[in-house]
Formats: sequence, C-alpha cells, structure tokens
Amino acid sequence: MTAASSVPVSPAAGSRPPLAGLTPGELAAFLTSHGFTPTHVGRLARDAIRGRATSFTDVEGLGEAGARRLEGLLAIRTTRIVGRTDAPDGTVKLLLETLDRERVESVLMPLSKRSSGCVSSQVGCGAACTFCASGLEGLKRSLAAHEIVEQVLHLRDEARAQGVALSNLVFMGMGEPLHAYDAVVRAIRLLTDTRLLGFGCGHVTVSTVGVVPGILALAEENLGVHLAVSLHAADDALRRSLLPVGGRWTVAETLDAAERFRVRTRRFVTLQLTLMAGVNDAPSHAAALADAIAGRPFHVNLIPVNRVDGTPYAPPAQPALDAFLDVLTRRQVIAHVRSRRGSDVAAACGQLRRASRPPSSAAAP
Ligand code: SF4
Repeated sequence: MTAASSVPVSPAAGSRPPLAGLTPGELAAFLTSHGFTPTHVGRLARDAIRGRATSFTDVEGLGEAGARRLEGLLAIRTTRIVGRTDAPDGTVKLLLETLDRERVESVLMPLSKRSSGCVSSQVGCGAACTFCASGLEGLKRSLAAHEIVEQVLHLRDEARAQGVALSNLVFMGMGEPLHAYDAVVRAIRLLTDTRLLGFGCGHVTVSTVGVVPGILALAEENLGVHLAVSLHAADDALRRSLLPVGGRWTVAETLDAAERFRVRTRRFVTLQLTLMAGVNDAPSHAAALADAIAGRPFHVNLIPVNRVDGTPYAPPAQPALDAFLDVLTRRQVIAHVRSRRGSDVAAACGQLRRASRPPSSAAAP
C-alpha cells in the first residue's frame, strides 16, 4: 500500500544513499559493487548501526583511505540533534534536524532498566487533531525510512548514556504513521532485522488516528507489531469534531478494522482516549465506549490531555478520571490511566518543535 503517494518525502542525501535506510542485502550489493568486501559490510552494520560510530573513521578495519572513500559513497547520518529538554522523571525529548532543515521530535522515556522510545513519522501532521500542537501546524512532509531509523539510533545512544536499554518503540510522535505508510513499514523491517538493530517486533507499536485502509493493509504485512488506535470518543459526531481525519470512518468501521488487525496478527490492540475536561470525560462517554467495544478484548488507555498553547482543552479532574475508569472496569473493559510522563517538558508531540521556532514563523493559535 502506498497510503499517501501525494505526500512529499525527504530529499536525497545528495547522491549518497543514507546508510540507515539500507537493508543488509542492499548495503552488501552497494558496497561490493564499489570494491568493498563482505567483512567491511559486516563491520559497518556492527559499528555504525548496532554500535556508536557516527563517522566512517570510527568503523574498525576500514583504514583511512577506505573511510574517505565511503564518505563519498554513503551518508552515515542525515539527522543531528539540535535541541533537547529533560524532565525530572528522566523523560528526554530530542529535537532533530534533517538535511533540509526540517525539525522532528523523538522522546525517550526511561523505566528502571529499560526504556521506551517514541518516534515521529512526519514533519508536522495533516491529521489535524484539535488538541495537538503538531496538528495545529499542518503537514510539511513525510519522513523517509532512514530518518525514522536514525531517530531510533539517537534514542538508543541517549538510553545507553543513561545506562538503560531501549526496549520498546512507539510510533506516537509527530505525524500519522499510516499516512507515511511505505516509509514506516520499511523502517520497521529495518529496525527489526536481526543483522541490524534486531528490535523485537513485539516491542513495536504503531499508533494511528484510525486510518482504516492503513490498518487493514498493516494487518497483512506480517510485521508482528502492535496497534494503537486513537478513538477519543465512541460517538461519531464528537469523534469527528476532535479527529477530523480519523473521523472520516465511523467508530464501528474503526473498531471492526482494529478487530480484524487483532485477529489476523494475534497482536494487542490498544484504544487510546485522550480525555479532556467537559468534552469527553463523562461517565456516559465511558458507557458509550463500553457499548461500542462490545466485549472485544481491546486494551483501553486513558490519557489526560496535555495542555497546549492555542487549544482550549484541560485534563479531567481526578474524580472524573476515576469515575470514567470505574464505568469501564465494571463493564469488564481492560482499561488503564497512562501517566503523563514528561508533560512538564512539553512531551505532547509537536510542542518542542513549536517552541524552537522563532515567534514570527510559529503557527497562529
Ligand atoms: S495527535 Fe498525532 S495524529 Fe493527531 S495531529 Fe497530533 S501528531 Fe497528528
């Protein structure tokens, strides 16, 4: 599936293919055609993908001449860290700049000896969720697979610096992953390749506003990833008002697609509800959600909204949150409240990028 062929993608790194976007087979074919040996290929994957080398001179056994030749053939990195914010709970948000000077965010959330990374799939986002900083600015372009993989490399390095392993990945940063479908699927195949990073596919979750054709296509990819669907409301009109793009499909169609994904892949499906005080946080909203789920074994994540400048939403008060959870629990719906990690460093997607821009170029609220 090419979910968004009209969406602009990344510029090439000159004529040099980006290393992080190549499969081991492509890398081997490319390098051997330029006179390098299979040993060189293995060392490059070991040192520059699994290891920390960010320059070809750091790759063992290439020699000075070999490293110089590779500089002209391959781009070892196309993104660089241009900003970061650190929360007291250890959450780190990195601001990365691409070759064409676009900026995207990636977040590391340490959890004792392991950590979760949250990556972006697009620069900005066209899904226009009304409570989201990225949605306020619209879509600039989709990321390419190598730009997604490089986010993971940066997060992995940050996790190592903190002495934790990067064990889980979620596509919940800026962008709608199923609108960058081809790049996201390719990136997942690269990230889970045991000759490269070897990420466990059961530790990767793709989050969507509910792009039904994309969910159905993803179910057929045999990727082994989990799915998170942003529902936010079980009422079609309310959902459409919060999620203009996800709301193109009815709640029933969305949940049917999620169930098909669950049955076909035998992976978890999580329904996400960003709860906003006075908007979608009443017990009646919880009861409608339980009705819509109709006994299907989805997991429900309740997420108090992050405050975003330019949006009117506030998180629910604790009693409202408790009451919402109580209705779901009494209806045998598996539900949890997700903690708002890093909310004090603007962890909601798009906020660091917005804050990093000069006032004159910031989107009007
Ligand atoms: S919440 Fe996610 S899908 Fe919605 S506008 Fe923001 S980045 Fe896009």
